[in-house]
Amino acid sequence: MKDVNYKIYTLGCKVNQYDSALISQVLQSYGFCKVNRDADLAIINTCAVTQKAISKDKRMINRARRENPKAKIIVFGCWPRVYSGLIKLDNVDYILGAGEFDKLFKIIKIIYKVKKKLNLPDIVATDRTRYFLKIQDGCEQFCTYCIIPLARGKLKSRPAKKIIKEAKNAIKHNYKEIVLTGIHLGLYGKKGRGNFKYDLADLIKKILVLPGLGRLRLSSIEITEIDDKIINLLKKEKKLCPHLHIPLQSGSDKILKLMNRPYTKDYFKKQVNRIRKVVPDIAISTDIIVGFPGETDQDFKETCRFTREIGFSRIHVFSFSAHPMTLAFHFPDKVKSEVISKRSKILRSIGEKLEESFKNKFKNKTLEVFVERQGNNYLIGRSEYYFEVKFKPDNIVDNIVDNYQNKHYNNLINKIVAVKF
Ligand code: SF4
Repeated sequence: MKDVNYKIYTLGCKVNQYDSALISQVLQSYGFCKVNRDADLAIINTCAVTQKAISKDKRMINRARRENPKAKIIVFGCWPRVYSGLIKLDNVDYILGAGEFDKLFKIIKIIYKVKKKLNLPDIVATDRTRYFLKIQDGCEQFCTYCIIPLARGKLKSRPAKKIIKEAKNAIKHNYKEIVLTGIHLGLYGKKGRGNFKYDLADLIKKILVLPGLGRLRLSSIEITEIDDKIINLLKKEKKLCPHLHIPLQSGSDKILKLMNRPYTKDYFKKQVNRIRKVVPDIAISTDIIVGFPGETDQDFKETCRFTREIGFSRIHVFSFSAHPMTLAFHFPDKVKSEVISKRSKILRSIGEKLEESFKNKFKNKTLEVFVERQGNNYLIGRSEYYFEVKFKPDNIVDNIVDNYQNKHYNNLINKIVAVKF
């Protein structure tokens, strides 16, 4: 086998980043070399979440062709999966959908005459600091605006054994924070209509006892899937970050119904109260879509009111953009783009204020900060509640969570320290 250089272009979400990191590690195990351009092999891991994302895919494919004129080009990921058979591209060699890893590695082995056996890596590093551990893929909810069930297919959970092995390796490689990710995390362990043999809470418990674990965080979980087992773990387990990202999407029951979200705002509020009764200071962040078809000024006002009522710790605002393969694309009463921008701006500013007031609750309290980088004379990290904290080493209080030699800036990066906020 001759020396092979490769480059991977990744678009989209954390799950895609994980998949690209996995591909990259397999290629390295074959002896391939990662380069910035003029590669022999270029893989574009695509996203299909909106029309805009697909336009970006196309631009990225052209860029890959320009930067790697002699390369074999493989288009991979959600775009081919959603539009299987419908993509016509002259300038690429292979097109494979998300999840088709076996085919991908088979093709690569044939093209480059690789003799080595396929060995999936024990650790898939996507980020310098946190370790994003994929435990689940797929979704069967079919929210009317979302393409993911088509892009990612049915619910699939990775076996706990494999996840634990990967978590152990991440700890061994000095990752201090592990973030459990998936497309529909709360349904970990569920297959089709069958019952759970094991669930997310069982898995969390298994990870929490691993020696050397710094802390564990959940990436995003649906309000309907937060049960007493998870709430009690959040209360009892110091290493499980008191932070839940729960997508609300709209604070209007009418819009929630049109979105096919399986709850009302009343239910959402009751669940939040139930969680806060047990874990009073928990951070609850959310996603909200602005400008869904049929969203009137009144509906939008309801959403704004509701976000304040809940007191989210952070809001990710998404301006609605219809994907042609979703039901919502065909819905009447589209909201004008100027109105969507105006509403998004208003909601973002509410989100900033809520974030500030959530942070203020912790003034003068001690936070456990995972130190990520150094600024000009200060350090920056994230607290267990997920908000960013800037501090000087002098603010570190006695009860050190992590071992370190001294309070020099460099020594503190990638450590968890207790900081007076
Ligand atoms: S639950 Fe999430 S991933 Fe599944 S369809 Fe709805 S928005 Fe998409």
